[in-house]
Amino acid sequence: MRNEAMLQEFIELVTTDAVSGQEKLVADKLTEKLKALGFTVTMDDAGPKLGGNCGNVIGIREGELDGSLLFSSHMDRMPNGFGIKPVERDGVLYSDGTTILSADDLSGVCAILEGIRQAIASGKPLPRLEVVFTVQEEPGVWGSAVLDTSVLQSKLGYVFDATGNIGRFVVKGPGRYTIDVTLTGKAAHAGADPEKGIDAAKAACKMLATLATGRLDFETVSNFPILEGITARNSVCDHAAFRGEARSRDLEKLEKYMKYFDEHCRKIAAECNVGIEIETELSYPPLNVKETDQVYLLAKAACEKLAFTFNPEPGGGGMDANNLAGKGITCMGVGCGYAKNHTTDEYLVLEEFFKAGLLCQTLIETYAGTCRSK
Ligand SMILES: [Zn+2]
Repeated sequence: MRNEAMLQEFIELVTTDAVSGQEKLVADKLTEKLKALGFTVTMDDAGPKLGGNCGNVIGIREGELDGSLLFSSHMDRMPNGFGIKPVERDGVLYSDGTTILSADDLSGVCAILEGIRQAIASGKPLPRLEVVFTVQEEPGVWGSAVLDTSVLQSKLGYVFDATGNIGRFVVKGPGRYTIDVTLTGKAAHAGADPEKGIDAAKAACKMLATLATGRLDFETVSNFPILEGITARNSVCDHAAFRGEARSRDLEKLEKYMKYFDEHCRKIAAECNVGIEIETELSYPPLNVKETDQVYLLAKAACEKLAFTFNPEPGGGGMDANNLAGKGITCMGVGCGYAKNHTTDEYLVLEEFFKAGLLCQTLIETYAGTCRSK
C-alpha cells in the first residue's frame, strides 16, 4: 500500500532546511498545510523565549463531536540536516550518506497530516483536533517545555516521535533533573601554609565518593561525569565544582533522591567547612502511562482494528510527551518506522511510514467513537 502523496510530502519537508532554533521555513509550510485542512493556526512565543526564529505551531480544528484529541511532532532536527537528498532503495528511504535523513521527526509530522487529511476526507463527524508542532526538541525538549497550553483542551494525545515499527508505543520514560554543585574553599600556599587553606576539591571528592550514584533501582539512575577544580598546582584549591544528572520514571523517587543529594552534600560541606551552592532544574517530568489510561486503551484498540501488533514499551530518554504529560495531557510516544536517527545511517521503512498515517487516522476514528454529538 504505497502512498505516493505521503512520500512526496515527506521529501518536500526534509528538503526544506531546518535545525533546532531555525525551524521557520518548515513551520511556514506546516502552517499552510494545517490551514488548508481547516485548522486555525497560531504560533506561541517559544521562539523569543528560547532565542530561536520560530515558536511552536499550534493548530486547532473544531469538530462536530465533543472531546478533543492532540497530535504532536517536532519540527527541528539535528545539526547535520541541511541539503538532505533522500534516496530510496528496496522500500527504504536513506539520505545520500552525507547528512541525516530527518525522518526524526518529519515522518511523524507527515503521519499526522496524512491521518487528519484522511479522517476529514471520510466525511465522518470528528472531535476537536489539536496539533502541536514543536521547536527545539533535540537540544533537550525545550520547545514543549515552554509550550503555551492555554489554548489546548485535550487531555490525551499522541507524540509521533519514536523509533521502531508501527504499533510500538513509548509509555514510560524517565524525568530528569540537572544538578550543578559549586564549592568554595580557601586558598593558601600549598608549600608554606597548607593548614591555612580549605580544600574544596577534596570536599567535592568526598561528596562523590560517598554518594549513591549509577543505577539506584530499576527505574532510577544518577551520573556525575563533570568535575572541576580551579586553582594553581601550588595553591590549596579554593574553588571546585561538579555537575551531573538524576533520572527516574517515578517522580516521587526522583524528588526523594534530590532531597537525599542535597542533605548529603550539605552535611559534608559543613564537615569540610566549604561553602556550597546547589543548582537543580527539572529538565522534564517522567512519562508514566498506565494500562487503564484512555490514551493507552485507544492505541490498543486502534492497533487491533488495523491488525498491527500493539507493543507498549518504556523509553530511556525525554521526549515532548514528557512535557505534555507534565502539563496535564497524557501522551504516548508513537513509533514511526525510522531507525538510526541522529546519524548519517538514519533510514525510514516506507511500508511502516505509510502505516503511521493509517494509525493516526484510526486513532482519530477510534476516539471519535467514544464522543457524542455536540
Ligand atoms: Zn525526535
